[in-house]
Amino acid sequence: MALSGKATISNTMIKTTDKQPTFADVEAEFLSHHPNADRNYLREAFEFADWAHHDQKRRSGEPYITHPTAVAFHLASWKLDVETVAAGFLHDTVEDNEAVELNHLEQKFGFDLAQIVDGVTKIGKVRFRDKVEAKAENYRKMILAMAKDVRVLIVKLADRYHNMTTLEHLRDDKRKRISQETLEIFSPLAHRIGMTFLKTALETISFRYMEPEAYKKLNQQLLNRQKKSQDFMAAVRHRIKALVEQNDMTADVSSRLKSIFSIHRKMQRKNATLDGLYDYYAFRIITESVEDCYAIFGLLHSRWQHMPGRIKDFIASPKSNLYQSLHTTLISDRGIPFEVQIRTRMMHRIAEEGVAAHWTYKNGRLLQVGKSDFENWIRRVAEDQGAVEDKDEYLDTIKGQLSARDILVFTPDSEIKTLPKGATPLDFAYMIHTEVGHRAHGAKVDGKMVPLRSELQSGSIVEILTRNESRPSEEWLHFVKTPSARAKIRAWLRVEARTKAEALGRDMFERELKRHKIPLKTITNAKIIEKLPEFGEKKLDDFYAAIGFGRLTASKAVRPFGGVDAAQEEKRALTRENRLKRAIQRVSRKSKQMVQVRGQNDILVNLANCCKPIVGDAIVGYITRGHGISVHRQDCKSFLNQKVPVERIVSVAWENAADTQLFNVQMRLFTEDRTGMVADLTKAIADTKTNIMSLKARSDKGKGVFDMMVQIHSLDHLKKVTQNISRVKGVLDVQRTN
Ligand code: MN
Repeated sequence: MALSGKATISNTMIKTTDKQPTFADVEAEFLSHHPNADRNYLREAFEFADWAHHDQKRRSGEPYITHPTAVAFHLASWKLDVETVAAGFLHDTVEDNEAVELNHLEQKFGFDLAQIVDGVTKIGKVRFRDKVEAKAENYRKMILAMAKDVRVLIVKLADRYHNMTTLEHLRDDKRKRISQETLEIFSPLAHRIGMTFLKTALETISFRYMEPEAYKKLNQQLLNRQKKSQDFMAAVRHRIKALVEQNDMTADVSSRLKSIFSIHRKMQRKNATLDGLYDYYAFRIITESVEDCYAIFGLLHSRWQHMPGRIKDFIASPKSNLYQSLHTTLISDRGIPFEVQIRTRMMHRIAEEGVAAHWTYKNGRLLQVGKSDFENWIRRVAEDQGAVEDKDEYLDTIKGQLSARDILVFTPDSEIKTLPKGATPLDFAYMIHTEVGHRAHGAKVDGKMVPLRSELQSGSIVEILTRNESRPSEEWLHFVKTPSARAKIRAWLRVEARTKAEALGRDMFERELKRHKIPLKTITNAKIIEKLPEFGEKKLDDFYAAIGFGRLTASKAVRPFGGVDAAQEEKRALTRENRLKRAIQRVSRKSKQMVQVRGQNDILVNLANCCKPIVGDAIVGYITRGHGISVHRQDCKSFLNQKVPVERIVSVAWENAADTQLFNVQMRLFTEDRTGMVADLTKAIADTKTNIMSLKARSDKGKGVFDMMVQIHSLDHLKKVTQNISRVKGVLDVQRTN
């Protein structure tokens, strides 16, 4: 490694130019790996980006285009395909120029490129926070989940790498924050997809900004022993090479100091000084075949002592990022330990380049275009690795153990929330705050309105729209996925039912007093409380609730307060109860299975006569004075005209429609007056398996008017009937008249 004062990386995978790379540099670099590639595509991407950023400057004062050009240059030098390099040019255009939309990019540069830019833009919007409950690992999982195409991640890493190399233009606190983020989030991601060179590069720069003093000191120490180190490494290299050749094999032997950051971390972990640290020398032996790897491994162990517990066979069991090598730590004749890695050329490429090493290109495009997503890549590599048995498990490992049963979504503030798969915006709302859940009335996912019941996808930004007058509804219980949301909704409904029952009970009680001509003001709370033991109740609220829920009839409730003749009252109660029973029977025939009033199933429910709601209609209920709940269609004019007080309004939900339950619906049709019309209409209706209860036809000013009653079981059914009728030749209009 280079030990100058600046963090330079001795790695062949990171090319630097003396000056800012230009488009010509990117093109030359790209063509050196893909001689037959589409250069126009690349040039157009550059020109588009140049236009989109034309009036922007970087913090350094340079034109903004220098940044995407540098990113594209890195991507080209990492041998990526033409879309990815072009995405390097374009990665900031959607974010930075309001005139540029994703579909422009898609039209001009194709779906793949647009998807890559979109992914990079989305990841760019994630705000990383160090102290929030979401740990760095969650962010890493999130990014992996968002980067369905691994090229998204690589472009993001190139972007981050270039930004890291230009950090000196930022304020110190910002530099530190970005460096920490790089260390916690991005270098582990580079590692996970096997881009070791990039991981090391990112770590080194981050370390330099995070702990400038420690960096400077350690760098100086390493410099001081540079000569000694180089002599030692040369001697060992020479001996290894001789040993290999004496045994009729060939190998490239290279050596390096471990990266400054890994030395630093090791010193911290072991609480050791540089002198106390034994393994900062690393040797790499690259040979022809797996057999040679093991053979050389044997030779080395017969020549040098080894350190116990340091032998690792990553050839037989590759690391989750596909890394393969044999590792051991040997001890020199003078007692200096050094690490040795032995691998084949292909293993070496994978170790250095990770993902990119596995891609096959044709004319600069990935061969498996359209299938180049992350999972396919991993599956393919997993297949190459005979050692891997369970591919799905392998996939999970690489994707960072993000369980297949979880999704990760963002709040508008870019905080991350983990939810079970299939979770809805409503689950999300309850996770944010109970009140947000209770008041939710809609949601935006990635800026688009969606129903509260829709299914969330990983990586989406979810925003909950609340309204003070919104209330939980029993229907919600049918689609929320998280137990906590369900519990909160149930708790609310219980309280709500109880509150409504109390109000209803009080009304019924007062009404009954009036009926008995007992002046309300003579019945004080104290008087009622005095009598509560007779009803087995302790509190006034419980007493009213008992009436509201129907456990106590109003007539019984007023008995201790009225000077009413007991016998007459008995008789009256009897007839009232009979009447009530009849009413219940009538209603339950019509609606017991159909209308559910939240938690109040024992309260009388009435389908209003004015609008005759049927299953599927949007409905609303209100607590009448003493006659249970009346259910109307939400657009019922007579209901709206009644100006029912808000506190009496109650939500009602249809239970699942029982197909056997039928409603009579009155319809009026206007048609051309032609022969055969009646026959055609009846056939159209019969085709929907619908009974016609009555049908009256008349002629009016040369037009046919039909009034008919049909039996309908749901709103969908009614729609189908209406559709079928409308298709009959000569039908002008179809109306529902009740
Ligand atoms: Mn950028």
